[in-house]
Amino acid sequence: MSDADVLLRAEGVGKRFGGFVALQGVDITLRAGERLGLIGPNGSGKSTFVNCISGDFAQHDGRVTLGGAALNGLKPHRRARLGLARTFQLPQPFNSLSVLENVRVPLLFSGQSGSATARAMHCLEQVELAAKAEKLPRELTQVEQRRLELARAIALDPQLLIADEAMAGLSHAEIDQILLLLRRLNAAGTAVIMIEHIMRAVTEFAERLVVFVAGRKIADGEPRAVLSMPEVEGAYLGK
Ligand code: ADP
Ligand code: MG
Repeated sequence: MSDADVLLRAEGVGKRFGGFVALQGVDITLRAGERLGLIGPNGSGKSTFVNCISGDFAQHDGRVTLGGAALNGLKPHRRARLGLARTFQLPQPFNSLSVLENVRVPLLFSGQSGSATARAMHCLEQVELAAKAEKLPRELTQVEQRRLELARAIALDPQLLIADEAMAGLSHAEIDQILLLLRRLNAAGTAVIMIEHIMRAVTEFAERLVVFVAGRKIADGEPRAVLSMPEVEGAYLGK
C-alpha cells in the first residue's frame, strides 16, 4: 500500500493496566474508504484498541497516524476534527439533553462553521430519528439509542468511523437497519472499522478481517481466508 492510499496507520499499539497487558504490538493499516471487520473473544483488546486510536486512552505504546497526521497525544475532540469518529459499546448520550442537542454537541465542539442545528437535523434524518429530535435519550428504544450514537459519530462527516459493537442486542431487522446505514456512509467515502460479534453482519459488511486474541493480532486478511485459519477457528469460533 503506497503512503498516499493509507488513511490509518497503527504501529506497535499496546496498552497495559498496571501489570496486565491488555494489548500488545498491534499493527493495522487501513485504506481510505476501506471496510474492516475486527473480531475476537471478549476481553481480547478490541475496545482497548479503539480507545488508543480515539484518544480516550491518553497513554499507550506505539504510533498512530490518520491521513499522515500524528495522533499521539491529541485529545479525542482534536482527533475528531481530523476525521476520526467512534461509537461506544454502551451508548453514552447526554441524558439531560434532547436527541437533537446530543448531535449538536459534537458539532459545537468541532468548531464547525454554519448551522449546527441544521446539520444535526440532517444527521438525525439519515438515521431516521428526525421525528424524535425533541425527545430525551431515555425515551428512545434500544435500536434508536444506537442510531443516535451513530448520528453523533457521523455528524462530523468522518473519514473513519469505528463502530464498537453497534449491533449488540438488536433483532435481525434492526441489524439490517444499522448495516444499511453503515453501507450508505461507506458509499459516501467513510472508512469503517466494524467491531462485532454478530458474524453475519461482519461477513456481509467487511472486505477484510482482523482477529485479536489475548491482546494480539493473530490474523489480517480476506474474510473467508481468515475465518478458515485453524488458529482463528480454535481461538474464536470454536470457543
Ligand atoms: P474487548 O473489547 O475485546 O472485549 P477490552 O479491550 O474491553 O476487550 O478489554 C481487554 C482487557 O483489558 C480485558 O481483560 C479488560 O478487563 C481489560 N481492561 C479494559 N479496560 C480496562 C481498564 N480501564 N482498566 C483495567 N482493565 C481494563
Ligand atoms: Mg469491547
